[in-house]
Amino acid sequence: MSGAVLRVDLARIRANLDTLRARVAPADVMFVVKDDAYGHGVDAVVRTATAAGIDWFGSFSIATGVRVRAAAPTARIFAWATSPAAEVDEAIDARLELGVGDAGYLDLVATRAAGRGIRVHLKIDTGLHRNGVRPEDWPAFVARAAALEAAGDIVVTGIWSHIAEASDADDDRARAEFERAVDLARAAGLTPGVRHLAASAAGHARPEFRNDLVRFGAFGYGVRSADGPALPGIVPAAALVAPVVRLDGDTVVVGLGALDGLPSTLGGRVSVGTPAGARALRRVDLAESAVEAWPDAQVGDEVTFFGPGAHGESDPTTLGEAIDTVGEEVLVRVSPLVPREYSG
Ligand SMILES: *Cc1c(COP(=O)(O)O)cnc(C)c1O
Repeated sequence: MSGAVLRVDLARIRANLDTLRARVAPADVMFVVKDDAYGHGVDAVVRTATAAGIDWFGSFSIATGVRVRAAAPTARIFAWATSPAAEVDEAIDARLELGVGDAGYLDLVATRAAGRGIRVHLKIDTGLHRNGVRPEDWPAFVARAAALEAAGDIVVTGIWSHIAEASDADDDRARAEFERAVDLARAAGLTPGVRHLAASAAGHARPEFRNDLVRFGAFGYGVRSADGPALPGIVPAAALVAPVVRLDGDTVVVGLGALDGLPSTLGGRVSVGTPAGARALRRVDLAESAVEAWPDAQVGDEVTFFGPGAHGESDPTTLGEAIDTVGEEVLVRVSPLVPREYSG
């Protein structure tokens, strides 16, 4: 064992969520817990968020949604991965709400529900083209949904979309498309109570994007946007820590490497936290990394690769920026074999 650990301070997740809820009220917060809660561990995160008053979770997959259900018996859980019939059956049993952005999937979900009125959120493609019904197909799609609702197979509780959050102008165009889609759904006789469009960046910055609900992932874990500022009240919840295993002249060797999920491309590009403050990360090998030494460095000293900054380390987004990716990616790459340790 290398001794590496991902330390998760659950109190910081609570504090981040409190900040976000106050920020977007009266809109609700959906906490996105896909990818094992961005690497933090879905079970502990859902328990913490539930205790903090979060009653909406976004799971992406049905499998994760079922797991969230076990930890949050009364929450509303949104799973938007287009999924096969067997998984849809599990979703119905677990009372998940399904994101539906495809006409064939709408019929599949309705057929599996067979009169049980599963809650669905219809997705309009507002330009990101990941999934979602194109505007030209939307009138027929909502008409079909209204018929399936009248038959008792589905209940259309939401209309939603996902935006790029890369340019305000593109997001504004997407929002206009979204509003048109909501109007058309109403004209078709649907009464979607929950409209949701924004994730962290737009939901935080732009009130007109909040609608009824904001789907927060990154900011809940304290991960800022790439090229975005650190935000008041939003602090990284996780710190990736490993001990010094050997001294080697002017470098120390630390027990964390590429096999643990640390991108080797970070070598030479970022600094890490040490008992003496920030030091250069010189190289990332398979099982170990080399860090610029400090006076009195000792075997067993702790090096922090990312975290809230207490020892001079950078946040996960700064690491991501150094290798042209986002902070979330740095987090979800931490190997599941690295133990998660919880406090708070
Ligand atoms: C991942 C995801 C989110 C959360 O995005 P963040 O930028 O991490 O807040 C919201 N909605 C959808 C559809 C997503 O896939």
